[in-house]
Amino acid sequence: MSSSQSLEPARAVDNVRAADTTHAADTTHAADTANAADNVRVQRKPGHVDRSRAIKTPHPVDDSEPARPSRTIPIVQTVLGLLDPSDLGVCYGHEHLLGAPPLDVSDNPDFVLDDEEAAADELLRFRRAGGSTVVEMSTADYGRDAAGLRRLSRRTGVHVICATGYNKDVFSARIVEGASVDVLANRFTAEILEGIDDTGIRAGLVKASSTLDQISPLAARVFRAAAAAHHRTGAPISTHTEAGTMALEQARLLAAEGVDLRHLIIGHMDRKLDREYHLDVVSTGCFVGFDQISKTKYYTDIQRAETIACLVDRGFGRQILLGGDLARRSYWPGYGFTDAPGLEYILRHFVGLLRDVGLSAGQTDDLLVNNPARAFAFRVDGGDVLASQPRRQLG
Ligand SMILES: [Zn+2]
Repeated sequence: MSSSQSLEPARAVDNVRAADTTHAADTTHAADTANAADNVRVQRKPGHVDRSRAIKTPHPVDDSEPARPSRTIPIVQTVLGLLDPSDLGVCYGHEHLLGAPPLDVSDNPDFVLDDEEAAADELLRFRRAGGSTVVEMSTADYGRDAAGLRRLSRRTGVHVICATGYNKDVFSARIVEGASVDVLANRFTAEILEGIDDTGIRAGLVKASSTLDQISPLAARVFRAAAAAHHRTGAPISTHTEAGTMALEQARLLAAEGVDLRHLIIGHMDRKLDREYHLDVVSTGCFVGFDQISKTKYYTDIQRAETIACLVDRGFGRQILLGGDLARRSYWPGYGFTDAPGLEYILRHFVGLLRDVGLSAGQTDDLLVNNPARAFAFRVDGGDVLASQPRRQLG
């Protein structure tokens, strides 16, 4: 980012408000909405999939014209179909429910999340605590189980968004080595528009991952393919950073590929709680994930809450997402670890810490409800995702 592209912290909110106002005043908006309402019914509950709202792939004019869905209102894509972003409710931005690393990378049984009963138990605890949506970040190279996620969503009533794209090099290199950017982009695009394998389940975002202090040439290939898939589908991009490093480089790479960084979520930023660094990152316009909550081996949750409060004070409260990234059996009561944090932890404990450091109820709603509704919405062609600003209060 050049410094001229950076938003001053104090101006960030004003710019967003200005965008909202501009769009609200846009007379085409009402027509778009009315038109969309005619043609489109929105899935309200998991288990009830409205196929009439499926993304339609238009016939490309020619091969140089990438296929792209045409939409006029914001949507998110869950394992059960499309959803109005305002129906996401309380949403964790980076979790794992089913999946495991390949055995030749790790044979640690703690990483093996393979028990749907345990996952269902965990999701029901999350739901009882007020949760509504989980973004499941396991990719194909990490044992993603789209059909299992669909069963879990139907069974528990929790919305689940699943990912295309890839995890970091140690998992993805064997796949990415033999594939061009174009091949990868086609694969990601197909998983968003057509479905994963033969399940018909479509991914709701693209994942790309860097390693400690570098974006390797292979990882850069995945980032460029993620950008291409984003341009073709409008799906948001969500990243893995190793220990919070390389966030600005990720943003620069994707900006150079033409990605509007309001559709980028940079993950694991609470592995590096340096406030100046965080301010530089959010100034690019992206979302940042505080998604290691409860993992005191990195930082205490008070330190996380205080950093969030600092960003909120500086006007960036609308660019933060929360999550736990609980990708070990030993993090889940559902696997019999009774003192483990589990999916309830953020709602039952961390929200209290946020209030202790001065966030209002509305500001915590932003982190859990309103920000995910924008972050996980597909780009709206000819419009602005920010214009849809849902404003829900937590019950
Ligand atoms: Zn993860």
